[in-house]
Amino acid sequence: MSAKSDSSLLSVAVIGGGAAGCFCASAIAARHPDWKVSIYEAQKKPMAKLALTGGGRCNITNSFEQVRSVEEVYPRGATLMKRALKSFPPRKTLEWFEQRGVEFVTQSDGCVFPKSQDAMQIVRCLERELRVCGVSLNCGARIDAILPSPEGGFCLKSGSQVFHSDKVIVTVGGCSTGKLRSLLPEGIALSESCPSLFTFRLDDPEIKSLMGTVVKKVRLGIAGSGLKSEGTLLITDWGVSGPAVLRLSSYAAVYLKQHDYRAPLIINWCDMSQEETSALLEELRQKGSKSGRILANLRPEAFSERLWKYLLQRSGLDSGKRWAELGQKGLRRLAGTLCADSQTITGRAAFKEEFVTCGGVSLEEVKLSSLESRRYPGLFFAGEALDVDALTGGFNLQAAWSGAMCVAEHI
Ligand SMILES: Cc1cc2nc3c(=O)[nH]c(=O)nc-3n(C[C@H](O)[C@H](O)[C@H](O)COP(=O)(O)OP(=O)(O)OC[C@H]3O[C@@H](n4cnc5c(N)ncnc54)[C@H](O)[C@@H]3O)c2cc1C
Repeated sequence: MSAKSDSSLLSVAVIGGGAAGCFCASAIAARHPDWKVSIYEAQKKPMAKLALTGGGRCNITNSFEQVRSVEEVYPRGATLMKRALKSFPPRKTLEWFEQRGVEFVTQSDGCVFPKSQDAMQIVRCLERELRVCGVSLNCGARIDAILPSPEGGFCLKSGSQVFHSDKVIVTVGGCSTGKLRSLLPEGIALSESCPSLFTFRLDDPEIKSLMGTVVKKVRLGIAGSGLKSEGTLLITDWGVSGPAVLRLSSYAAVYLKQHDYRAPLIINWCDMSQEETSALLEELRQKGSKSGRILANLRPEAFSERLWKYLLQRSGLDSGKRWAELGQKGLRRLAGTLCADSQTITGRAAFKEEFVTCGGVSLEEVKLSSLESRRYPGLFFAGEALDVDALTGGFNLQAAWSGAMCVAEHI
């Protein structure tokens, strides 16, 4: 491993051969065929994570058609992403891969996948591009430290070896704060790393009886934090999952870590206000009273029988009770459970093994126009190593593509 620079040959070291690193290295090499561009990847193969994305199908980007604002999908890094998406939007990502023979399909929810439904097609496309552009790919090459060199450029330490590179791009993905600190030159501010995109374990053992239940639209909130989300909820064998939960886990990633993944979760099961819920229940009471029905046998349309019985039980109501016997107090209690059921989060779990790391190199450390370090000119960052992360839906990979291209254009 040696990359000695001379005046005619500029050396560029890309640390990390993941999505951002490989895309960035090939784009730089394509623009500057006379430069020596090398990737240093710690694992035996590059892009191991990319191969697993989207359950092996690779949700490569998103059409953004259903996105109301960049802030909504990038809880951290929206300012940077607004710029990056302007200069390298999803359309350009798709064009780049299409020009290299990949075809895509866009789902009704805006998620874009290769038509082949195979993430390996994206990996192979990037590997081919690295070869075509003459990028040197060094696998099994972990970089331990990047040190500014007194003669200019940087010294890279890898085990007992030390070598030089004129420019360095850090694309090491979502590392722990400790690993990132020991890799980077002194003084670069980091935001504490923590996981995002996870499902919640709840303390109510009865929730298990609802496993597999899907509630189309709920509102979720973490009491006392102001953090909330809405969307579909899926009940699992140990708690809750689905888009509403993943979204809240992303918004509350730092808060929940600080609270050791224990927090009060308020579930509005019916996506209605207290008044609307009370009015609906009053309607049911009148209908049920006329027909002599019991609570178990007449329920709001949005709820399955199992979920309705569970909510009656959580309200302390006997499901065999007649609607006619439900007093004002019982009706208020039921309305309270339906629109503000107070549960407790007691832990987290990965969503289909998928998670992203929030935190990383603080955005104040980089020039947003080029992603170059303010402290160390010649040092750049892209991908998850930066304090940028998103909801599920292809937004995280788009951040990797846009950030990588931004570096390639400005280096
Ligand atoms: C299972 C799973 C599924 C996902 N699915 C999707 C999806 O469908 N759509 C989406 O948008 N996002 C998805 N994500 C998130 C997405 O994969 C990441 O946001 C994206 O891979 C980030 O790219 P990156 O290049 O920054 O980091 P990575 O892809 O993690 O690459 C970083 C690379 O750096 C290497 N490295 C680390 N430290 C060193 C070092 N010191 N020296 C040398 N090399 C080093 C690592 O080995 C790794 O190969 C998924 C994540 C997971 C875990």
